[in-house]
Amino acid sequence: MSAILPGATIGILGGGQLGRMTAMAARSLGYRIQVMDPDPSCPARFVVDACFEGSWDDARAAADLARGCDVITLEIEQIAVTSLQAAAKYAPVRPGVAMMEIIQDRILQKNWLVDHDFPVGEFRNIHTEADLQTAIVALGGRCFVKSARGGYDGRSQVKIGFDETASSAETLAHDAWNLLGHRPAIAEKALDLEKEISVMVARSPNGELKSYPSAANHHEHQILAWSVIPSSVPISLEEKAQEIARRIAVEMSLEGLLAVEMFLTRNGELFVNELAPRPHNSYHASERACTTSQFEQIVRAVCDLPLGDVSIVKPAAIANLLGELWLGHEPRFDLALSVPGVRLHLYEKHMPRAGRKMGHLSAVGESPEEAIERVLQAKELL
Ligand code: ADP
Ligand code: MG
Repeated sequence: MSAILPGATIGILGGGQLGRMTAMAARSLGYRIQVMDPDPSCPARFVVDACFEGSWDDARAAADLARGCDVITLEIEQIAVTSLQAAAKYAPVRPGVAMMEIIQDRILQKNWLVDHDFPVGEFRNIHTEADLQTAIVALGGRCFVKSARGGYDGRSQVKIGFDETASSAETLAHDAWNLLGHRPAIAEKALDLEKEISVMVARSPNGELKSYPSAANHHEHQILAWSVIPSSVPISLEEKAQEIARRIAVEMSLEGLLAVEMFLTRNGELFVNELAPRPHNSYHASERACTTSQFEQIVRAVCDLPLGDVSIVKPAAIANLLGELWLGHEPRFDLALSVPGVRLHLYEKHMPRAGRKMGHLSAVGESPEEAIERVLQAKELL
C-alpha cells in the first residue's frame, strides 16, 4: 500500500465545521481539498479549493467530487451508501462503505455491538408503535427513543418518562411514535450516568492504530456543552475504555477516525453509547492538548502516512458556542480572550440559531480542572 503524499487532493463528503477544520489541517500539510455539501456557503467553503453542491444522497455530485480526488473521506455519517459507492469508483473511500452502512443505522450499529460482545445498555429495536409500548414497560418507564437514522445533537430523539405527569405507556408510545415520524428507532433504558467519556481511535489502511487518551464530556439538553482531555478516570477504567475502542476499530476494519462515545454509570459499569466514524466534537481539544490533533490525524490516516503521536502535551478543554449566544447581542469575544490560555474558534456560519454550533472556545491549563475553569470563565464573559 503506498502513501498519498502532500500535493495530492483529498475530497471530503460534508463541509460543516468538522470538514472545515480537517481541510485547514490538510492545507497545513500541503494537500489540496475539495468538499461536497448541500449548502454552497458551508463553513468549509472558505478554506477549500472547490465546493460541490449536493445533498447526501446525490450520487452524481459525490462522483463529481471524487473524480478529481486521490482519496475521499467524510465528516458526517449520513452520506447515502449509493453516494459512497459512486465516489468509490474514482478514489478510495475511507472509512469504507461496509462500516458506514452499519454505523449510519442505530439499529444495525447497536446490534453489531451486541453481536461482537461489546457492552451496551439495555435497549429494544422498535419497528411499530406496539413495539415501543412494550419497550417502555420493559425498560422501566424512563427511556430514550432514538430514530435509527439521521439524528445528531439530541435531534430525532424523544425522552420518555422524565416529567412528573404520569401517563400510560400507551399514550407515551403514541406521542413518541408520532414525534419521530413513524420511523424505525431504538429505545434505550435511561441510565444513571456518573460520567460520559469518549475515545478517539485512528487506523490507517496499512493497519497502524493509535488511540487518544479519553476525553470527559459534559452534555446539556443532549448537546455537548464542554469537554476536556484527559478525562481523569481511574486507570483501570481507562484501560477498559481503550481496549473497547481499539477492538471496535479493528473489528470494523477502520480506515480513518472512529470516536467511541461511552457511558460510565453510577454502578461502575462502562457501556458503549454510539460510534462516530469521523472527527468528533469531544476531540476539538486535541488541537491544544495533544501532539497531533484529530484533524491532522484523519489526514494522516486516510493518506496512509505514519500516524502522529497522541500523547498529551498539556490538559485542554473546549466549550461549545451555540447560536443562542448571538441572540440579543454580539458576543464579547474581546472579553473572553482576556482569560489566560484561551483561544477562539469560529466556523463562519451565517445564521445563528438556537442549538446550532457556531464555534468553540478552547483553553489549556496546568490541570484538566484548570482548563475547564478557564474555558467556562471565558464563556461566561461572552
Ligand atoms: P447524538 O447522536 O445526538 O449525540 P446520543 O445517543 O449520543 O445522540 O445522545 C445524546 C446525549 O443524550 C448523550 O450524550 C447523553 O448525555 C444523553 N443520553 C442518550 N442516551 C442516554 C441513555 N440511554 N441514558 C442516559 N443518557 C442518555
Ligand atoms: Mg452522541
